[in-house]
Amino acid sequence: MSDILRVLWTIVPRRVAPEPWLNCKRCRDSRPFRSSGKIRVNANGKRLDAWLIYKCTSCDSTWKRPILERRHVRTIDPHVLMSLHANDPEVAHRLPLDVGSLRCKVGLAEQSDDVVVRKEVRSESLTPARRLEILCAVPEGTGLRTDRLLAVGLGLSRSRIRSLQEAGHLAVFPEASRKRHSIVRNGMRVTIELSKIDDRDEIVMAAKGGSPAARY
Ligand SMILES: [Zn+2]
Repeated sequence: MSDILRVLWTIVPRRVAPEPWLNCKRCRDSRPFRSSGKIRVNANGKRLDAWLIYKCTSCDSTWKRPILERRHVRTIDPHVLMSLHANDPEVAHRLPLDVGSLRCKVGLAEQSDDVVVRKEVRSESLTPARRLEILCAVPEGTGLRTDRLLAVGLGLSRSRIRSLQEAGHLAVFPEASRKRHSIVRNGMRVTIELSKIDDRDEIVMAAKGGSPAARY
């Protein structure tokens, strides 16, 4: 029987809409703007413009983020057209998350490294596990550093992670992920030899679930 506890950590960015920093005319300064969730559509003959309305977080001045510009109605998917006209909350909610296109429009958008880590036990040993294996799934890129993930995810300090690594109790694969400032990659694997660690029970608990509200 295996005495390895295998867990899968899926790391996904916390879904926070990026707030573009724009020059606010009323504040006369650069301010973060937040999506109001409202879509405005203007039809001019067969051409159509649509914007998502953002508001200055200080003074409520508006900024119209272009979604469609002078588009011929026949070239627009009828479902998209309908949801734009209906101010479909689903569309209005999804658009502000679209960082890529926002960057193109304004050149500057905040993207948080804040992530959520979902932890699942893949296989558990009946006897106390001697080794812990953490497989990391990163379906979308994040800026999260490996040492930070391990420290928060296991409830340990970063210096403790380092000392476990130096003592050979903790190993990260592939080797490139062992570098000090490396970013968590999809498929990264971490093994911890539990038999030589005093606080193994706490580490095991944290690896399997821990505090779901932890901030990475
Ligand atoms: Zn303002």
